Amino acid sequence: MRLMNSRFYYDDITLDRAHHLRTDETWLSSNLSGSNARVIPVWQNQSLIFAGDRPEAAILGGTDAENIRQHASTLIFLGMEGDIIYSAADLSHLEDPHSINLPNNSGFEDLRRLATTLDPIDAGYLAYARALVHWHQNHLFCGVCGTATVAGRGGHERACANQSCGKVHFPRTDPTVIMLVTHPTEEKCLLGHNKKFQGLRFSTIAGFVEPGEMLEQAVAREVYEETNIEVVDVEYKASQPWPFPASIMLGFRAHAVTTEIICHDQELIEAKWFSREEVLEMAAGNEALPPSNLSISRWLIDGWLYEK
Ligand SMILES: [Zn+2]
Repeated sequence: MRLMNSRFYYDDITLDRAHHLRTDETWLSSNLSGSNARVIPVWQNQSLIFAGDRPEAAILGGTDAENIRQHASTLIFLGMEGDIIYSAADLSHLEDPHSINLPNNSGFEDLRRLATTLDPIDAGYLAYARALVHWHQNHLFCGVCGTATVAGRGGHERACANQSCGKVHFPRTDPTVIMLVTHPTEEKCLLGHNKKFQGLRFSTIAGFVEPGEMLEQAVAREVYEETNIEVVDVEYKASQPWPFPASIMLGFRAHAVTTEIICHDQELIEAKWFSREEVLEMAAGNEALPPSNLSISRWLIDGWLYEK
């Protein structure tokens, strides 16, 4: 089911997650390896890609899929599209994934680096697979008693093997707020340069939501902590899955009520008010702003740029 037109990467996944089948062990064991089964391999946070002028996501069927399944430490049921059944296979335990005869011309790559060159729906499947495999890799032991955990429910939970504990662990998604802040009196928006940015010079302000906090409070707190700017009228716009490793980006607009920028913490190196002309000038240089069609940050910036 398609909820809306795609706006940026990873927001176009049309997979039916078929929640009710996760507990049906008989169905899983006969269908995850059947002729309609497709496997998405993940190795140490990297996704399998067919190289070429236009790289393609390796979503494998037939004997290639069987080979991957035989070597996987965990097979995770992702869902169905029509009668095609998708699963993710974790190969992270292998020292060298090429030791298991991967398909010709394929290799493991960082999805973030390649995403815009892949088919957007395939990229969404790979992102989902990568996120769940990452979660398994980081929950091999119970956080309550330290005993090893065992995957269940088609790979959507890990249960503690210690029967006196019995804690069941579920995949988590970390909410992150990302916001386009507009100037109180002038036609300007607030953008910052984060020390982690490589190439990219300016983008929207972002940060993690803290426990016990409303999203609106997280927006106001993050903007204030990073730039000294106070905001009101926080308004939700859109979300983008960002499973690198486990976030969902929640996009907002907010209006500033102060203008003096001070970069309080060590995250932002610089923040500035930009006019539309200045943003368009930066957009002409490839690395100044986030690339279009990739991120919710650019979508928020473009939304402001072209709203008049
Ligand atoms: Zn336990």
